[in-house]
Amino acid sequence: MWKTEYAPDGSVACESPALRIATDTPGVDAFTLRIGKDFTLSTLPVKIGELSETMALAAKRRPHTSEDGSEILIEQENAIPFGSEPVVKRKIRLSEELLSVTMDLEMRASCEMKEISAGGVMLAGPVEKIRFLGMPGKGDFVPVFSEEKDFAAAEDGSVLYDEAYPPFGIVSESGKNAVDLIVGDDFWRWTNAGRIGGTCRFIVEKKDGALHFLWHIFTLKPDTEMPAGRNWRLTWAASWHLSGRKKARKTAFKSTFQLAGVEWQDSACAVLSVRKSAKKRQGSSGKKNPVCLCSGGALNLLKKWLRSQLAEAGEGDVFAVTGVVPHYCVAAGHMERAHFESLPHWDLASLLEFRRWANRQLALRGARLELIASEDSPFKGFMTLQ
Ligand SMILES: [Zn+2]
Repeated sequence: MWKTEYAPDGSVACESPALRIATDTPGVDAFTLRIGKDFTLSTLPVKIGELSETMALAAKRRPHTSEDGSEILIEQENAIPFGSEPVVKRKIRLSEELLSVTMDLEMRASCEMKEISAGGVMLAGPVEKIRFLGMPGKGDFVPVFSEEKDFAAAEDGSVLYDEAYPPFGIVSESGKNAVDLIVGDDFWRWTNAGRIGGTCRFIVEKKDGALHFLWHIFTLKPDTEMPAGRNWRLTWAASWHLSGRKKARKTAFKSTFQLAGVEWQDSACAVLSVRKSAKKRQGSSGKKNPVCLCSGGALNLLKKWLRSQLAEAGEGDVFAVTGVVPHYCVAAGHMERAHFESLPHWDLASLLEFRRWANRQLALRGARLELIASEDSPFKGFMTLQ
């Protein structure tokens, strides 16, 4: 399904009928994804103090295609040969409608921690309206979509979002086409500056007609001791649905896992506060908190269900997880870091990763898994949810 081309300068381009991904030589973008005819998604360069990813050495790009050809993985490494020689690594996973990226900034302890921008992404194309997915209302767990903003009418240079934390997601719409962006389940890493003596700032602006989502992850506070350089990982993802794409055939599901129908154990549930008094209050209301799909307990149950279905799976079968709705949570144990007080995260990326795992097993039998939001849910269509 993917066609891969190597250029003499070391860059790689991979192409499927709807997509083309080019990992340009360092000095331009880390990679550019062309979506359909109209949209282009590219990364913006990382900046560590005076050092910029645009100064990186040209390096190897290593594309791997999955066995069934449905997914491509590109690993890239941009080494900046100056100062403390930081390295920017990206693992880019691309399937037909989903791009997931893990970015690692590798900094030696000697790296100057004054000002770090993790770059960001730029979306060029005929974007008309945008919406942000933001923090749940007080006491609630489900992230909330903002009102639509008229991106097409906004003047160049307009700032549409400027906060100390990123939106969970951004929906950019153009007629019946949409491109969605999300930050990964590691929301706490995006906003980690406060823990180590800095501030952070996330901006969405219109620049040269395109949407720029900027990630200023660290600015040292005045009169604060500079922390040692550290490795910093960020994950994010994008998805798209384009008009004119044929809808999948409606098939009855072979089997469904209903998220709402499970009596989840307490350790698998989302929490909004780790303070004891808050826990007590939550307990006394009698209403159980919703599940957090970052928790090991919840994921184990999903995997157990899937494994129990495998023997029955046959060509063309579709399995489904239903009642999908993302939740915000601060339980540090769900991030396998129970020694922290609280680590804010949300669980959509974790669920997408579960589907990827499930589909690897199901593909061997010609079957697949889909994630289904409730009929009236605002998440229907968002990030490949159906
Ligand atoms: Zn959680």
